[in-house]
Amino acid sequence: VWDKCLNELKKSIKPHEYKTWIKDLEFISVSGNRLTLKAKDNITKEFVEKRYLPLIQNVVGKNFGKPLKISIVLQEKASKGVMLELNLSTKKAPKIESNLNPKYTFENFIVGSSNQFAHAAAIAVAENPGKAYNPLFIYGGVGLGKTHLMQAIGNFVKEHFPSKTVVYVTTESFMNDLIDSLRNDRMTQFREKYRTVDILLIDDIQFISGKDRTQIEFFHTFNALYDSGKQVVLTSDRPPKDIPMLTERLRSRFEWGLIADIQPPDFETRIAILRRKAEDEGIEVSDEVLKLIASRIKSNIRQLEGTLLKLKAKAQLEGKPLDAELVRTTLSIEPGNSTSVSESFSETLPVDEIKKAVSQIMNVKIEDLDGNSRKKQIALARQIAMYLCKKLGNYSYPKIAAAFNRSDHTTAMHAYNRIKELREKDAQIQSLLYEIEGVLTRSVDSA
Ligand code: ADP
Ligand code: MG
Repeated sequence: VWDKCLNELKKSIKPHEYKTWIKDLEFISVSGNRLTLKAKDNITKEFVEKRYLPLIQNVVGKNFGKPLKISIVLQEKASKGVMLELNLSTKKAPKIESNLNPKYTFENFIVGSSNQFAHAAAIAVAENPGKAYNPLFIYGGVGLGKTHLMQAIGNFVKEHFPSKTVVYVTTESFMNDLIDSLRNDRMTQFREKYRTVDILLIDDIQFISGKDRTQIEFFHTFNALYDSGKQVVLTSDRPPKDIPMLTERLRSRFEWGLIADIQPPDFETRIAILRRKAEDEGIEVSDEVLKLIASRIKSNIRQLEGTLLKLKAKAQLEGKPLDAELVRTTLSIEPGNSTSVSESFSETLPVDEIKKAVSQIMNVKIEDLDGNSRKKQIALARQIAMYLCKKLGNYSYPKIAAAFNRSDHTTAMHAYNRIKELREKDAQIQSLLYEIEGVLTRSVDSA
């Protein structure tokens, strides 16, 4: 078919131009709605792209019977011998590392009201990659199962559609890969790698915030995949609209498909997750113990699992049974019935932790947060600290005011409202808060 196209092109282009630029273009593949050609050098590639792309596209569209996007590459990866014109995608030569952890599956993902929407969306995408929702954007707090669900999609596809290529990367390693490729002049390989997969899973996309070069490259990766009907799945700790310093065109693409959130698990789901984990680890525990743990740890499943393992280790070390008493002393829960326990305990962040993080990141003395200085930076830091006390610690306004040496609780309320408003419209404040919250939620996570 390509030869036919060449013949037709020959007729519509001046002979010497045809000979110089077009004649030696080599047909590589048609995959999805993209036709790939190889040029012998960069000059040819650039010239053809500038001058002849619409013409080639037109001719190709007619002869292949469907509109195709044209890519011109310098080096083809596909094997040179057999060249199936259509459907090269099923004959992919290079083996790509998926980076999937087989332990993350749908089978061992416990579904509850907090995650059932995201779970259903993930199943739909796994069963119908590229066709159900594209992209699928999953967001939610730390340790709530985003990575697990995303990798479950990948593992499912690998099992049920073995010919499809799946790549999982964190945003950070995508970025590092990009930097490496730019430095070592390997951008062609980089693009090959990310633009030819069937399913691209990118974890923690919020970290692309402010990374301009990565955003540009990812924009093109996204378009290439999307245009050829390939599936993109993204996770983030927040919805697209709350990711600061993200170009509008990427933000809007993140919103093209389906956005699904994961909420903290309710009590029943926490129990179910603990029970499952205990079974998997061969830990024998009573319901009472599970309830006690579930009432103490509420908003992070990683921590929930970690606590169970910690308790198991402690029980072994001290030669004691893993019973309610051990849980109580370890997690310092007073005796009493577990429902009242679940009411009275939460993982509150100490005010001092918040002050410390704010003072470090904003370079303001801790004493100044409690003082009366009206210097701009200090006043802002104080308001941010109060805001975070409300947002992350859920302290009452009178308590917050008191913790900052103030008698009037409306001060804390004003601070909260002001920062909340600023956060919505000021990218700098957004990223500042993002950084401080990052530090604070990490310290809670590893506590
Ligand atoms: P995130 O990426 O949202 O920070 P992860 O996917 O890493 O969270 O999940 C943290 C831990 O909790 C993992 O070990 C994961 O297997 C487990 N986990 C999360 N959600 C569930 C669930 N619904 N059922 C079973 N395990 C879960
Ligand atoms: Mg994760």
